[in-house]
Amino acid sequence: MIPILDLTKQYTQIQEEAEKAVIDVMRSGCYILGNNVKKLESDFAKYCGTSYAIGVANGTDALHLALRALEIGAGDEVITVAFTFVATAEAIGLVGATPVFVDINDDTFNLDYTELEKKITSKTKAIIPVHLYGQPADMGPIMEIAKKYNLYVIEDCAQAVGAEYNGQKVGSFGDIGCFSFFPTKNLGCFGDGGIITTNSDYLNKKIIGLRNHGSQVRYYHEEIGLNSRLDEIQAAILNVKFKHIDKWNEERQENAYLYNELLKDVEDVVTPDELDGVKAVYHQYTIQVPNRDEMHKKLAEKGVMAMIYYPVPLHLQEVHKNYGFKKGDLPVTEALTERVLSLPMFPEMTEEQQIKVVEAIKECLAELKTSV
Ligand SMILES: *Cc1c(COP(=O)(O)O)cnc(C)c1O
Repeated sequence: MIPILDLTKQYTQIQEEAEKAVIDVMRSGCYILGNNVKKLESDFAKYCGTSYAIGVANGTDALHLALRALEIGAGDEVITVAFTFVATAEAIGLVGATPVFVDINDDTFNLDYTELEKKITSKTKAIIPVHLYGQPADMGPIMEIAKKYNLYVIEDCAQAVGAEYNGQKVGSFGDIGCFSFFPTKNLGCFGDGGIITTNSDYLNKKIIGLRNHGSQVRYYHEEIGLNSRLDEIQAAILNVKFKHIDKWNEERQENAYLYNELLKDVEDVVTPDELDGVKAVYHQYTIQVPNRDEMHKKLAEKGVMAMIYYPVPLHLQEVHKNYGFKKGDLPVTEALTERVLSLPMFPEMTEEQQIKVVEAIKECLAELKTSV
């Protein structure tokens, strides 16, 4: 069986150091907002090229806190994509604002900036581009449009630690960058975790307060906040893992390029494209195929665990039914929802495993052809 990802392979690489780091935290008696979180925040900001990074409880809270910090709420509109994990829009709903969904490009799976201006109204306050599958969104034109209309930009970097656009790390383009350390992400901890990046002194201070019950000085509270801190144990694990992130990202990239090579002559399979001048970190390697659901099922029968990210676009989710979107509103998103299939992808994947995956795909395609 070839799994979609194998976290145990990564664990063995860091086992000794990670276990010692966790024991050190347990023995220290300091479990919340201590030196491990401080170190991660400082290293992470340096890595992203931002002035600040603020550890939080998870990626969803990172987005929620970002919107709160920018004082976005009821009556405001926030433009984002429908081709993403639900948390991107959930955060908008949590602050009482309205998500406005925009279509994507079918080669990069990311926000189509040529559709952006049509969605801007007098109520629009911010844009949340998502760097989906570890592929940077087209930040040049997105930032230009944001500037022209005086909109905030919150980058959803949950799948893209270390991805670059024109040599600059994601999370450093917008007003705020939001990251998730959910275990399956390309930098994951052993539970939930997240971090926020920003260059703004004001936003840094504001978010530090908001993540800790709206308090700058202990037991003095200026506003309603959250309890959304990154645990010391998770930060200690992340400090161990963070040292390997560039190597792991490179291995993902190499695996992606090998898949591209192996699949290049396979009829009916569309491999993922990259924008010029980006470094994509391939949190997922996602192809497009006809008869996707059949292919998905058949691959599983052959021991290849592929996944569908995501089967229902957010504008057609039950939870968003009151926003007035309907089928047909986002044609590219909707078409891709029926065509995408993410293949097994993790840094430690072997060439042999990748060849097996591609052989299985070819077999499935042949079987599907003869069965029509
Ligand atoms: C995982 C993810 C989130 C949410 O992160 P959590 O840490 O699970 O809360 C948000 N946006 C995207 C695109 C994600 O993939």
